[in-house]
Amino acid sequence: MTIKNEIQTLKTLAKRYARANRLPLHKALDAMATELGFAHWSDVAKKVKAGWLPSEEEVSRAEAFARQAHQDEDTKQSFIEASLARPVDQPVRQGKIGDHGFAVFEVFGDIRMEGEGWRILVGEAQFAQPVVEIEKPYSETSPVRSREFLDAALVIADEEAAKVRAGIATGWPRRSTKPDAEGVVAHPLFGDRAASWFCLYCDGEITGTQLAENLWHCPGCGAAPIDIFSSPEWLDGDDVKTKPVNVSGTLTRPEPRVEVVDSRPKLNLNEENITLLLRTALLEDAATPSERIGALLAEIYVDEEGDASIVLDEDLWPEDKDPEAAIAVAKMLGTELDLAVTSMTFPFAWPDLGHVTTSTREYIQMLLDAYTEHGIIHRGGDGH
Ligand SMILES: [Zn+2]
Repeated sequence: MTIKNEIQTLKTLAKRYARANRLPLHKALDAMATELGFAHWSDVAKKVKAGWLPSEEEVSRAEAFARQAHQDEDTKQSFIEASLARPVDQPVRQGKIGDHGFAVFEVFGDIRMEGEGWRILVGEAQFAQPVVEIEKPYSETSPVRSREFLDAALVIADEEAAKVRAGIATGWPRRSTKPDAEGVVAHPLFGDRAASWFCLYCDGEITGTQLAENLWHCPGCGAAPIDIFSSPEWLDGDDVKTKPVNVSGTLTRPEPRVEVVDSRPKLNLNEENITLLLRTALLEDAATPSERIGALLAEIYVDEEGDASIVLDEDLWPEDKDPEAAIAVAKMLGTELDLAVTSMTFPFAWPDLGHVTTSTREYIQMLLDAYTEHGIIHRGGDGH
């Protein structure tokens, strides 16, 4: 190993350390120097000029130092994978505020904190308005109605949201969070580099330094990294001029929006559903293949009041047979039911065949045999 290589190794290790810990390189070099017993990296540099070489033991100590940080980096970098791998119903945190239990979930960078009958949604964007949802049956009694409780809950949700944002940022190139001397930063998703950037939402012009500090969310409107571009191409030909985002220091997150929601399953007894349920009952009443075809082809009308009429074909449904299940279902649904008989076009010849067996297979065999002997069978096409 030449001198140059050994010093180069230390520098490479310091770079890894810098990246893993989102530190400027000079700080990482100083940390490395401290690890080797020097006050600063400049002291190492001076000794190197005077002919100093790190011993084998010192190089391996430096390696262990960087690896320690590296492992840390690996843990953080797996944030996205960990997020994707985690079952959606597995909380990242659980606990109690007073007597009220809560669980916090993270899904694609957003935080959802929930307890009995309430949930708080905190988006990935730092200035996005939190949304508080209260289930209707709890609308008056929910603990989130109390400002004190809500504030305590928001502190917890925000802690988890901050972890998410930090976790996401550790997977980014170092240049995304550390501007160079000219203020140039690299876009964490697109990779292009620039010192000034533009927000698709508010048309604001943002410096690289502002973006680095704000984890690539627009400091003006809170737009996400995916909405930040190095050139405002969407304004081509428009009269709109970009202007620096307003960061007067007054930018704060809006107060949470409280909504009463009702996510209980709703049974909608409309025309379509009553029809479906009546037809299902008719199928239960049908014993023979013809009756089943009769149930499938029956005309079922439901009016605006929810009252129904069923029109059955006389060839498909025996005239003296009451569809008991359909009548009972209509009663359960509060539907007044009218039964009528008509003569429709029976789809197959020899209607009586469909009543001599309860087996669909037997019926179809008889049908095939009869058509083979007395008629003709078309397959495919429209049968003409
Ligand atoms: Zn913006």
